[in-house]
Amino acid sequence: MKNIDKISRRRFLQTSGAVLAANAAPAAAVSSAAGDAAKQTPPALHKLLRKASIPASKGARVVIVGGGWSGLTMAKYLRRFNPAFDVLLIDRQSAFVSFPVSNAWLADQVSLDFLSHSFFDAANNHGYHFLQTTALGFEGESRRVYTDRGYVEYDYLVLAPGIEYDYPRIGVDDDEAQSLLFHRYPGGFVTSSELLTIKHKIHHFPGGTFLLNVPDGDYRCTAAPYERACMVAAVFKRRRVRAKILLLDMNSEIKIKKAGFSRAFEQLYGDYIEYLPSSLISNVDIEGRRVETEFDEYPFDDAIIYPPVRASRLLEEAGITDPYSPQKAADTDPFRYHLIGDERVYVTGDSRSQPFSKGGHTAHSEAQYVAEVIAAHALDKEVLWRSPQTMCFSAVDIEPLRAMSIITYYKFNRQTGLFAFDRTHLIDQWDAQGARRAWPGPRACIGTCSTFSRPCGR
Ligand SMILES: Cc1cc2nc3c(=O)[nH]c(=O)nc-3n(C[C@H](O)[C@H](O)[C@H](O)COP(=O)(O)OP(=O)(O)OC[C@H]3O[C@@H](n4cnc5c(N)ncnc54)[C@H](O)[C@@H]3O)c2cc1C
Repeated sequence: MKNIDKISRRRFLQTSGAVLAANAAPAAAVSSAAGDAAKQTPPALHKLLRKASIPASKGARVVIVGGGWSGLTMAKYLRRFNPAFDVLLIDRQSAFVSFPVSNAWLADQVSLDFLSHSFFDAANNHGYHFLQTTALGFEGESRRVYTDRGYVEYDYLVLAPGIEYDYPRIGVDDDEAQSLLFHRYPGGFVTSSELLTIKHKIHHFPGGTFLLNVPDGDYRCTAAPYERACMVAAVFKRRRVRAKILLLDMNSEIKIKKAGFSRAFEQLYGDYIEYLPSSLISNVDIEGRRVETEFDEYPFDDAIIYPPVRASRLLEEAGITDPYSPQKAADTDPFRYHLIGDERVYVTGDSRSQPFSKGGHTAHSEAQYVAEVIAAHALDKEVLWRSPQTMCFSAVDIEPLRAMSIITYYKFNRQTGLFAFDRTHLIDQWDAQGARRAWPGPRACIGTCSTFSRPCGR
């Protein structure tokens, strides 16, 4: 009981875009006061006050916010563990585009078709509903999620909205500057439009200095920024562009697959990549095209700037953030994933509070477990905790395609109260065999095939 009241009071009411809706239509019946409020509400916002137009629920409704690796897997497995569930997946985007394997796509090793999938197909094939809309917030007491197409009621809510960039951590505080930086030098780790912009940049770069960086903290996909530097260099090499890639690492050394990436930087891209560890970015001069670190300044002609990340703002705006979390993650049970004090609301994927590697495969394997936890809760049963699995392939070369990989699990240390890696299997010798394991492997490995189409034996 202790936190339910606290959470529900704060949650939706703090969500800026939806405050009007909450004031005009609190959980109780719509009153004359709400009528007055509605009269004062600009017509464009009236739809926020209405119930969203979706099929009537045929069982306990589970609403999932976010159709990434976590939400999509959850949507499929919830019904597998409890066929009586009626599942609704919400995403603001019209189609799914995979980030895993997108670095290889930048270098033309797979097609966009390979990365893109229809949410409708996934929903039709696995018997759930999909609604394209943006979630604005939720209210725990009335069990409503507010969206820009009206509100939706839930019995269980899963929040899997992924990450956002934390621009102030590279000295960019101002909203306008953040927006300009995002559009001009996108990091390519949050939306698919960023990827399209990046691909155009590297395939048309006329030459000069191209800057990339690796953020610090628990950022999305530890290997991906190093892999991306290799793929950008491979494209420049193939195009015979006279370019210098400055790779500013905000960490003191390569964080993962160190031997393999070091060897690739030296042996394959010695003429292209200059790797600069311990480069803590303190400011970006967007118009002047210059990145500042504590001791140096780096002018560039073009750039991909990947700021440190934080959990989706949706969690903070809903008032469920753990005040001690540096990435503004929600205050959740580390084994069961539900909000402390509310076993109807779960947070999964890269927005989770646990320090698991932010990866698509982590999110995919974790979601299968959490789907079972939610199903068990509804059936008044228990499920034993099991670790997610992290699996990550990294391409380093394209002629021929060569890659390396890592697979790991996690264990909880009761003495320290912390999670640590467990049963790690690293192959940091990149070769064509590694690439064959990865491509077209990832479609099966991280479940794309079974997540989108009819069950394919996995
Ligand atoms: C270049 C690159 C390479 C990578 N390589 C690998 C790899 O090899 N292996 C691996 O395992 N992982 C890899 N990853 C990481 C992987 O992509 C992420 O960890 C994974 O996408 C996380 O899944 P998620 O479901 O938590 O978040 P996301 O995939 O980001 O999904 C979140 C979804 O929520 C939606 N959303 C957010 N807010 C709202 C809202 N308010 N209303 C409605 N919808 C909302 C978004 O539109 C999005 O679709 C890579 C990432 C990148 C960028």
